[in-house]
Amino acid sequence: MSAVAEIKSRLDIVDVISEHVNLRKSGRNYTGFCPFHSEKTPSFVVFPDSQRWHCFGACSEGGDVFNFVMKREGWDFRTALEELARRAGVELRPRTPAQVQAEEEADRLRELLDTAANYYHHLLRHAPQAEAARNYVARRALSEETVERFLLGYSLPGWDHTRTYLLEKGYTVDELIKAGLLVHREETDSTYDRFRDRLMIPIRDPRGRVIGFGARTLDPQGTPKYINSPQTVLFDKSSTLFGLDAARRSIRQEDRAIIVEGYMDVMQAHQAGFENVVAQMGTALTEPQLRQLQRYTRRLVLALDPDTAGVQATLRGVEVARETLEQELAPVFDPRGLVGYETRLGAEIRVLQLPPGQDPDDLIRQHPQRWATLVEEAKSVVEFYMQWLMDSSDLSDPKVKKSIADEMLPVLKSVSNPVERNAYAQKLVRALEISAPQFLHELERRTRRPSTRRTTTRATPLSAVLETREADLESYCLSTLLQRPSLLSQINAALTERQLEPLNGKDFQDMGYRVIFETWDRLLATD
Ligand SMILES: [Zn+2]
Repeated sequence: MSAVAEIKSRLDIVDVISEHVNLRKSGRNYTGFCPFHSEKTPSFVVFPDSQRWHCFGACSEGGDVFNFVMKREGWDFRTALEELARRAGVELRPRTPAQVQAEEEADRLRELLDTAANYYHHLLRHAPQAEAARNYVARRALSEETVERFLLGYSLPGWDHTRTYLLEKGYTVDELIKAGLLVHREETDSTYDRFRDRLMIPIRDPRGRVIGFGARTLDPQGTPKYINSPQTVLFDKSSTLFGLDAARRSIRQEDRAIIVEGYMDVMQAHQAGFENVVAQMGTALTEPQLRQLQRYTRRLVLALDPDTAGVQATLRGVEVARETLEQELAPVFDPRGLVGYETRLGAEIRVLQLPPGQDPDDLIRQHPQRWATLVEEAKSVVEFYMQWLMDSSDLSDPKVKKSIADEMLPVLKSVSNPVERNAYAQKLVRALEISAPQFLHELERRTRRPSTRRTTTRATPLSAVLETREADLESYCLSTLLQRPSLLSQINAALTERQLEPLNGKDFQDMGYRVIFETWDRLLATD
């Protein structure tokens, strides 16, 4: 029996849920008020026979005891597994020696980073050299409470203070390199502190454990402004969101997450009581980052500075975007990518437009109410982009109109809902005063599914190949899984390691595949 099945056989879902929900017996089942939405009549039902729950109200979702605690506590699958296993008295399957070793090494690095964070924090509070850092914190109007809450710190100037301190604490040079705190110079086989004379901002995983640092220069002319920990076994910036550990409760409560660009924005927002705010870690927003948020909400708002080099660069082409990106680490605004995420993740992504020249940090500090209003007024990605293109162009020039239309075609094409797509297209046609039939025809031509086109041509056009690629990939993945079920646990282990949810039906876009996967997954769990 798998650990999951054993846990389920030992725990009664009614016991677990009744700790959080007042349940009343009604026939064979139990009902209560749904803990995930507010309601006047109880529509939350627990089925002891199948050991499942379902909300027949606004949520209209349900699941087993694992789904319940994951949703309720905001845990990832691994955490839920560990917690429920402990509760059920189930020993989780012993790991291979390699896994145990990797786990121990990761624990040790986390402990090391935690020690470092406290060391930096102590320096910020007491070191005479930290005067500039303390002034900086004061200038940004970060309160004592915020400094404590985010455990801000300071790294001393000089090349080996961190090394000396942590070696004295019993860590090795090798561990310090692996944790990203020391840089190893190959040529001379020597090492030095990566972070020197900087404000230190601990970056945590969703469980609140320190996995890396963001470090800001205190020299007004200093470059780069920020350096981050490098990629380590603990820290992968493409799947990390700064502040998520502090924000997740509020994100769930408000059913909305706001994504900003910088550390300061997050800290300022939390300080002002807007606690559902997290920051992407430089560069473009990634799908793993959005998947992290998806555990808490499907409603996302991006707070973008419309003048960011990123938005402008998108217009000048990908090459330029890439150059800008590397130089300034400015986030790239990729409307097509975002619309794609919406479809794949079943999410709603809106864009909050900041007043020119203001970042969330300033705005929240000066006009908190204005921030709240802007969040409410956030536009859909397509609308934001359309508006942005038009506002920043000379619409009296027919050539410019055409280029906007061309720019919008691929974005509209990636909107999967035809009604929505058409509504946007109509809006664009009206705003640009261009020929509607021509534009709509072009859009129609581009979005037509290859299946509606009889196979009269011998060679499949490239666009059709691209359109079917996703479905083909899903079919390939599914059939591989069905042939080799053992792959599933490997895949889930890899996902869990990256703090992602195990594979589930929703990962398949094709409804047929989704149902097959879910059925198969359920059969596996009951074996
Ligand atoms: Zn509900």
